Amino acid sequence: MSADELLKTLGCQDSGKALYDFVEELYPLCRSITGEGVRETLRLVQKRIPLDIHEVASGTQVFDWTVPLEWNIRDAYVKNRAGERVIDFKVSNLHVVNYSQPIRKLMKLEELKPHLHTLNEHPDWVPYRTSYYKDNWGFCLSQKQLSQMADEEYEVCIDSSLTQGTLTYGECYLPGASTDEVLISCHVCHPSLCNDNLSGIAVATFLALNLAEQDRRYSYRFLFIPGTIGSITWLATHEQVIPRIKHGFVLTGVGDAGPFTYKRSRRGDAEIDHVMAQVLKQAGEPYKLIDFFPYGYDERQYCSPGFNLPVGCLMRTPHGEYPEYHTSADSLDFIKPQSLVGSLEHCLAVINVLEHNHRYMNQNPKCEPQLGKRGLYRAVAGHQATQSRELVLLWVLNLSDGKHSLLDIAERADVPFVEVQSAAAALVECGLLAQCKETVDHSQHGGCHE
Ligand code: ZN
Repeated sequence: MSADELLKTLGCQDSGKALYDFVEELYPLCRSITGEGVRETLRLVQKRIPLDIHEVASGTQVFDWTVPLEWNIRDAYVKNRAGERVIDFKVSNLHVVNYSQPIRKLMKLEELKPHLHTLNEHPDWVPYRTSYYKDNWGFCLSQKQLSQMADEEYEVCIDSSLTQGTLTYGECYLPGASTDEVLISCHVCHPSLCNDNLSGIAVATFLALNLAEQDRRYSYRFLFIPGTIGSITWLATHEQVIPRIKHGFVLTGVGDAGPFTYKRSRRGDAEIDHVMAQVLKQAGEPYKLIDFFPYGYDERQYCSPGFNLPVGCLMRTPHGEYPEYHTSADSLDFIKPQSLVGSLEHCLAVINVLEHNHRYMNQNPKCEPQLGKRGLYRAVAGHQATQSRELVLLWVLNLSDGKHSLLDIAERADVPFVEVQSAAAALVECGLLAQCKETVDHSQHGGCHE
């Protein structure tokens, strides 16, 4: 089923609009790595999917890191002598350097300037800046705004607090037939930025919504976490779960109009890496595959050498490769409903492969069986010429020796997984193929246990 078909069964007529509307709802919240903005975001996710919201106390040691103080902000501004807010948090939460310490002071422009951040290349845009893990404060504004600030005294106010509190993250666990897990992770720590953070949250939420309605071979764990410190905290507190993670990916920047980019796991040849590459290749649209590097999003933590999890990263245009990245221009205008829904459909196609990537045994391995007399051509759905359909059947029969998975066959035959899947189903139906029992370790190309 496509994302649209699935969503229709759930009462959403237009999945692109539903995804976009959710981003729009999340957009105004002032998120950070801790605080009310993250909690409110998770509550909105929780309205749609079963989500456990966890709180981890400030000061908790998580590997080499410490859960920071909780940051909250009520208001912030810079007022001129006339009492006008020339920089106003209430207009955009990007105007305050995220995690700023509180301050209330009268300051000359010269004194204030080291705390003002602008973008020279884009004089109308406001940059996004953070000050985690160091005591600082500041404001972000457009170059244009700054050029209009007169050389006078300003009233500077950041009504924020940094207190002993908690770090908040959300977890949606969908149990499947097996306790083996697929991990899907997105970050929830950016304020009003659409592609970088909200697109991932929306697609992950709707993916969980879809999977909740399906029979599942695997168990699925969706993490909605603040970047870096969130994944470190989760890994430090879930070491017993980690051996169950067989596949995974980080979802980020999946709302822009660019083609897909998949960053492979550190392992480079994990099943998820093959599945992503196969689905992208067969979709017939432009895409890019890149190797793991120790920068980017939470794959940095999942793929640290002590874990080395089979977790890649799915995005469209990679972070830093579009000028709107980490600026006010990563707004509701920058993301597209059709990009969001395309990303959701890609994820559903990837999960379809993971769910059905079994190994089979040809029950008639000595010479080719006669396909015509079993009515197999009609049994295989699709619009391809009979000849290529027959070829897929022959590939499945030939490689179903208990060693090759359906994905191996799809790669070798260079056809979409769904065609191989449908051919295998038809061959099982007429008794020419039997599914192998699951091998315990999915990373091994083990033989058939019959
Ligand atoms: Zn970011």
